[in-house]
Amino acid sequence: MIKAVIFDIDNTLMDFMRMKRAAVDAAVDAMIDAGLTVPKTEMVEKIFKVYWAEGIEDQNIFDKVLMKEFGKVDYKILAAGVLGYKRAKEGHMTLYPHVRLTLTDILKSGVRMGVVSDAPRLSVWMRIVGLGLHHYFEHVVTFDDTGEKKPSPKPFKKILGLLGVEPGESIMVGDWAERDVKGAKAFGMQTAWAKYGNEFDTKVSGADYELDDIHDIVAIIRRINEKPA
Ligand SMILES: [Mg+2]
Repeated sequence: MIKAVIFDIDNTLMDFMRMKRAAVDAAVDAMIDAGLTVPKTEMVEKIFKVYWAEGIEDQNIFDKVLMKEFGKVDYKILAAGVLGYKRAKEGHMTLYPHVRLTLTDILKSGVRMGVVSDAPRLSVWMRIVGLGLHHYFEHVVTFDDTGEKKPSPKPFKKILGLLGVEPGESIMVGDWAERDVKGAKAFGMQTAWAKYGNEFDTKVSGADYELDDIHDIVAIIRRINEKPA
């Protein structure tokens, strides 16, 4: 019996990389407009290189890249980059198809919902509220709530404790096999891999279920819950 579904956010509910790419693209255009002389594709590449090295949530990304490139920060260019980024980010926060329908169907079925994200607390809430999802989730666990990232058992333990649900009565939905699937499975939860959000070229997820569309989870839960105990 599934009593709770736990969702990851980035690349599971929200098309995070689409937002990131669009925001970086706009930031570089704005920096070039403010006087940056590095060619666009080269600058975009440099930024993503730092993201992959320092973490995709890095908040000082443009300072770092400018410093690395020029040995100093031109604040006119920095300000242009930050503003360009922020403006594009707002406009490109998008859900994958059928996310809202899926959450509504799960809500109606009486199965409870929570979120576990490795992103910082404010970033997570900005996304949840920005996407209008804040009425669906009973509890949200962010990196700041446990100080540990998935696949550590801590965030999984925290969210299930808040919901009062046993691991075996829950299913974790996430795109990152190494973190979401591995971590949840090790903690005794059932797992569904958000295959549609696969940004890592993962071939084998190790999950109990694989989702081509997030709405697949509705039928999976229904099937599990219809099975006689
Ligand atoms: Mg994710």
